[in-house]
Amino acid sequence: MSVQHKCVIIQRGSEFDTDIDKTDPQVTNPWKWIWMEHVVNGQKLGDSIRKIQKPGHAMCIICSKELKYGKRGRFSLVQHVQNPSHLSIVNMRKSNTVLPGQKQPESSTDTTYGIHPMLKKAAENPKSSIPEPRVSLIDRVSTAEATVLAFAAEKSLPYAVVPDLVSLSKSLAKDKQALDGISMDRTSASYKMTYGLGKTFQEECVEDLQTSFFSLNIDECTSETNLRVVSVLVCYYSDKDQKVVIKHLSSFAVTKVDSKTLYQELVRLFEELRLPWKNLVSILMDSCNVMRGSKGGLETLIRKKKHARCGW
Ligand SMILES: [Zn+2]
Repeated sequence: MSVQHKCVIIQRGSEFDTDIDKTDPQVTNPWKWIWMEHVVNGQKLGDSIRKIQKPGHAMCIICSKELKYGKRGRFSLVQHVQNPSHLSIVNMRKSNTVLPGQKQPESSTDTTYGIHPMLKKAAENPKSSIPEPRVSLIDRVSTAEATVLAFAAEKSLPYAVVPDLVSLSKSLAKDKQALDGISMDRTSASYKMTYGLGKTFQEECVEDLQTSFFSLNIDECTSETNLRVVSVLVCYYSDKDQKVVIKHLSSFAVTKVDSKTLYQELVRLFEELRLPWKNLVSILMDSCNVMRGSKGGLETLIRKKKHARCGW
C-alpha cells in the first residue's frame, strides 16, 4: 500500500492547517507554507511535496514516500527532490510520449498547493510541471466499458439500451463545459420533459400539420393508475425528413369511454392546437361500436363535423 492511502494531506487554510506541528515538542522546525514556493531544478516544492497530518512529516506524491522535516525544515525536502531516485521518476514521466489519439487523464497534481487560499484562484494553472503517469488506452477503454455495464446492471436496464447509452455518452462528452453544467433531479426532469421537450415537439408537429395532409391513429387503454387514457398518434409526410413519419400528438384521460366523450375531446384538441379539419384524411381506430357505430360512432360524428367545416 502506498503512503498516499495512509496519510491525510493538509490543505492550506483548512481546519488543521499546520498547528499540528505545535503538538509535538520534537519538531524544532515547524512547517512553513512559503517552502512550497521554493524552486529546485525548475520545479516548485509544491509540485511534489504535501503536508500530511503527522507532526514533522510531509510526503512526496511522486514517490509516495513519507519525508521527515521536523529537524532540518526545508532542507530535508530540497534534499529529497534532488535525490536521484526522485529525479528518475520525474524524468520517466516527462520522457514518456503520448500515443497518437491518446488523451491524457485529467491531472490530479495540484499546482497551487500551499498557495494562500485567497490567491489560489488567480494562480490556478491547468498545466502541471510534472506530467501524470500514463494509463494505456486499452485499459481506459475497458474501464469505460465496465462503467457502462455496471450502470446498466445497477439500474436493471435492458442490454438493448447499452449501445444507445454509449452513443449518448459520446455525444454528451463532446462539450465538456456544457456537460459540467448539467444538473437535473427527478422533478426538474419531469418539468423540462413536459414543458420543454414535449411542448417543442408538439409545436413542431402542429406546424407541419398546417400544411400536410394527415391521418390520425386513436386508441384508448387503462393506465397503471387506472385512468382511461386516449392516445392520438398522427401520421403524415414530413417535408423536413423527406419521409412519412408517425408522431405522438396528444394523450388525455377520460372518465368514460363513449363516442360522445371521445368526439368532444377530439374536437377540443383540434381547436386547442388549431388543426385544420380539411387536412384530416383518415382515422385509424379499432372496430368497436364506440368507434365505428354507423349512427353515433366516433367515425360518423367526425365525418359530419368535417363535412360541416369543409363541405366534403
Ligand atoms: Zn519524491
